[in-house]
Amino acid sequence: MSRYFCHEHPEVLTLESRVVDARPGAVVLEQTPFHPGGGGQLADRGVLRWNGGEAVVTGFELAEGRLWHRLATPVELAGAVEVVVDPTFRTMMTELHTGTHILNALVYQQFQGALVTGAQLNDDGTARMDFDLPDADNDRLRALEPGINDLIGQDLPIRYVYVPLAEAMVEPGLIRSRSVAPPPDEEGTIRIVEIVGLDRQACGGTHLASTARSRPVKILKIDNKGRHNRRVKLGLD
Ligand SMILES: [Zn+2]
Repeated sequence: MSRYFCHEHPEVLTLESRVVDARPGAVVLEQTPFHPGGGGQLADRGVLRWNGGEAVVTGFELAEGRLWHRLATPVELAGAVEVVVDPTFRTMMTELHTGTHILNALVYQQFQGALVTGAQLNDDGTARMDFDLPDADNDRLRALEPGINDLIGQDLPIRYVYVPLAEAMVEPGLIRSRSVAPPPDEEGTIRIVEIVGLDRQACGGTHLASTARSRPVKILKIDNKGRHNRRVKLGLD
């Protein structure tokens, strides 16, 4: 996992940058506030602006450690650009992502360390998480909703540390997912997201600065997906 500018500066959604490489319809920037997606989080949306023009950013490609921004028009850019992340979309991803961590923490605590088998945030304000829960009672899962909202209301701070991979592997529960665990960065460390007093786990996504910045969360649906997996769908209220 690369370290992204948005990991250190999640509040910066607009910045002036420079094109360091370009081909028609795509650029690499000196610095970018975009999160390219991954681990279930959708890529940021937004635009690039330059003297006399603007293009929608339609997607990202990581190649040889560089992040290419794909553009909606085949323009070949050079020089200074303004980079603008869509704040509404980012905020929704960040809220949903924080909500999935709280759900995940409660499932881990109340269902004997059950692991995550999949996660996907959606652009309609919903998310799903799949858990390895062969014998769980779906009513017990449904009953987690007030606990999630209570933790949102407690306004727990959220902070980050970087831990060497070998250390992370031996701390129980730090690698929570069987499918979306982030790989280590160039320095061999992984990023740990801590909801203070509740949960620590590896993740490369964007999260709120504290839990009460989220809207309340609803558990919308629980499905059995195969013999082992339970799929919990949640949404922002
Ligand atoms: Zn996360």
